[in-house]
Amino acid sequence: MTTVSWVEGSEGSGFGIENLPYGMFSRRGELPRVGVAIGHHVLDMAGLSAAGLIDDRRCFASGSLNAFMAAGPATWQATRSRLIELLGDDWHRPSVEPHLVPLAEAELLRPFEVADYADFYSSEHHASNVGRMFRPNSDPLLPNWKRLPVAYHGRAGTVYPTGTPIVRPAGQRRPPGGHEPSYGPSLRLDFEAEVGFVVGVPSPAGRGVPTSAFRDHVFGFVLVNDWSARDVQSFESQPLGPFLSKSFATSISPWVVPVAALEPARVLPPVQEPEPLPYLRCDEPWGLDLHLEVLINGQVASRPPFSSMYWTSPQQLAHATVNGAPLRTGDLFASGTVSGPEREQRGCLLELTWNGRDPLDLGDGTKRTFLEDGDTVTIRAKAPGAAGSVISLGEVTGTVLPTPI
Ligand code: CA
Repeated sequence: MTTVSWVEGSEGSGFGIENLPYGMFSRRGELPRVGVAIGHHVLDMAGLSAAGLIDDRRCFASGSLNAFMAAGPATWQATRSRLIELLGDDWHRPSVEPHLVPLAEAELLRPFEVADYADFYSSEHHASNVGRMFRPNSDPLLPNWKRLPVAYHGRAGTVYPTGTPIVRPAGQRRPPGGHEPSYGPSLRLDFEAEVGFVVGVPSPAGRGVPTSAFRDHVFGFVLVNDWSARDVQSFESQPLGPFLSKSFATSISPWVVPVAALEPARVLPPVQEPEPLPYLRCDEPWGLDLHLEVLINGQVASRPPFSSMYWTSPQQLAHATVNGAPLRTGDLFASGTVSGPEREQRGCLLELTWNGRDPLDLGDGTKRTFLEDGDTVTIRAKAPGAAGSVISLGEVTGTVLPTPI
């Protein structure tokens, strides 16, 4: 594999030739098109195909990444190989360089059309902390937790691209210790740092997708912020799961990092005891050594390690389809809040402040229990890539706006 691109500034940027993530972008006055991040540029895939430099199959000028995601692993791999050739070999520079757009000139859009969206709950540390807070006199984990990856179905229509302002939701809130709910803006707005994967190739109804078929269906990974109104959530989620406390907004990062780029980041996941049922067993290690960082107003608030997740992505996909539910192109599955064993590795304010009991010192003279209007939350992540490189998953960011009166 070529390890250096002729694109200046790409090596060491996290968006080198080992990464090549896909997204959607537009330039002023132009229709959206598929792009690939390389260094501080976007490679215009529609322009590249119009120039006959890459096999198109009518994917790249379709106005959506979904057509390419549906094309399947053979096409993904062939395109990736061709991109490595075009961006790695100086000989191609004169013909390819005109299709590089500086990031500063590109508006990054939601990278794909979300079909369905489900959110798991796969960090043992997160689930245990939540259990300790809300069920202090019983086992922190409920009996099903180590038997299957627990999840809820979210709302695809409110999955937003990075940078979308987050309007503070209103709803029926019940403060801790309070008895009567009241209606008003959430007083306990939170983020959840997560990693999601998106399906490219559909699966037929009635047939589950085994863990071994993960690469046949999944196109790549994004960062996810599952914004959460804790005071709404704690009242509405009994006995069913979260509804309005989550459905107002979920933010995703602009670049879909291909599964192939993250192969070098695969690590052994935590030991699973009891051993899961056969349909949840995995022949390959599918922990991912992603290093997340959460910033509030530019101050590092947490560094959650994704490698600590108990349930892996192929297990989540196998579980989501084991009842015969079909996959569609654009289905998004998020991991659940990523929390490590240490306090500074917790992936949401609920845990970082222990439900508001211990305010978090942001290091700039300010403290937070939950998010305030005007706060900006940014989640970013890096992973080890091929040949000693670093793969960036980019970042997902959002600023909280007040509830309209
Ligand atoms: Ca979540």
